[in-house]
Amino acid sequence: MRPLAYIALGSNLGDRDQLLARARSALAALPRSRVVAESSVEETAPVGEVPQGLYLNQMVALETELSPRELLAELQRIEQEAGRVRTLHWGPRTLDLDIVRFGDQHVHEPDLVIPHPQLSHRDWWQRELAELGATE
Ligand code: ATP
Ligand code: CA
Ligand code: CA
Repeated sequence: MRPLAYIALGSNLGDRDQLLARARSALAALPRSRVVAESSVEETAPVGEVPQGLYLNQMVALETELSPRELLAELQRIEQEAGRVRTLHWGPRTLDLDIVRFGDQHVHEPDLVIPHPQLSHRDWWQRELAELGATE
């Protein structure tokens, strides 16, 4: 069976609902991949010290033959296409796509860590994973 990647979508700038909807369409269009489930959309307070608006968050389960690194590159392209400008760390952004889990794979590279190191600190991610029936 192909690995199931869990991708966290977040937006706190611009038309957040539309940005998430477009991100879902872009994920559905990824090569060698299929969206199998989507969590409900939840509004959360931003993390970190930068004052900024509330986020809309959602988790998508993606069955994929892409490697974790190929998937990261696709997610960064989708972020760019959503007009994301990289400014402050943990600052506001039109679209943020994080790989929260990728099957049972573990990755520890300078620019890619899976499972996402913040998973245990973000209760909304845990709620969304539970809603999608993700098991440990
Ligand atoms: P956080 O990752 O704590 O939610 P962030 O999403 O604001 O913070 P970004 O500025 O979007 O951080 O990303 C910084 C870098 O994180 C990216 O360039 C990417 O290489 C790296 N990165 C490491 N692990 C992951 C992962 N699992 N998913 C997405 N990006 C990751
Ligand atoms: Ca993030
Ligand atoms: Ca990110």
